[in-house]
Amino acid sequence: MKQHRSIAIDGPSGAGKSTLAKRLAEKLGYLYVDTGAIYRTVGLQAFRAGVDPADPAAVIPLLKEIRIHLAYGEDGLQHMYLNGEDVTGEIRRHEISAYASGVSAIPEVRAFLLAQQRNLAETHDVVMDGRDIGTVVLPDADVKIFLTAAPEARARRRWLELKERGQDTPFETVLHDVKERDDKDTHRAAAPLRQAEDAVLADTTHMDLEQSLALLIQIAKERLQA
Ligand code: C5P
Repeated sequence: MKQHRSIAIDGPSGAGKSTLAKRLAEKLGYLYVDTGAIYRTVGLQAFRAGVDPADPAAVIPLLKEIRIHLAYGEDGLQHMYLNGEDVTGEIRRHEISAYASGVSAIPEVRAFLLAQQRNLAETHDVVMDGRDIGTVVLPDADVKIFLTAAPEARARRRWLELKERGQDTPFETVLHDVKERDDKDTHRAAAPLRQAEDAVLADTTHMDLEQSLALLIQIAKERLQA
C-alpha cells in the first residue's frame, strides 16, 4: 500500500509548472519537488567540465564524480547541492537550460536520478513537477496534470522572469530557445515529454497565475477525492 499521496505535474518549459506546483504544494501541505532543478545540477556540472552535454561519452563519466542532494532551506526553497556546494542560484542561469536539456536526453543520466526522485515520493506527500513524472517516475501518482500553454505565452513569462533576475535576454532569443527545448524534449528517445493517458490537460495560455492555480486546485481536489 502506498503511504503517501503524489501529484505529478508535467509539461513543456515555461508553462508555469514550478510556480504553480509550489503554490499547490503549499495549499495542500505537500512537499514540492522541482525535478528540473536536479537535471540542471547535472547540466551545470557538464558546463563546468566544459563538455558537450549531448555527448554521452563525455557526460556519463561525470556521474561518477558527482553527488547531488536536495534540501529545504528555512526560506522554504528547494536548494540544490553539487558535491556539497549550494548551486541553487547558479543552475537558473539561462545558458544552463540548454545543458540541462542536453544531459537529460541521456538514458544513464535519467536512470541515475530516478531513485532519488522516487525516494522523495515514497517518504513524503509530494507535488512533483518535470517532464516524465506521470509517465515514468510516478506512474501510480494519485493526480496527474499536463500543464501547457502556447510557446509565445511561455516565452513571454520566461523573458519576464529572466528580466526580473537582471538577465536582459532578447525576447526572440527566449522564444527560439523555448521552441528548441520543446522540440528536443518531445523528440528525444529517452522518456520524451508527453501527456500520460490518465493525465488531465490544463492549458493556461489565456489564464493568469491565479486562474491557473484555481484550476489546478480544482483538478487536484477532484482527483484526490475520487
Ligand atoms: O523544468 P526546467 O526547465 O528547469 O528543466 C530543465 C531541463 O531538464 C528541461 O529542458 C528538460 O530537458 C529536463 N528535464 C527532464 N525531466 C524532468 C525535468 C526536467 O528531462 N523531469
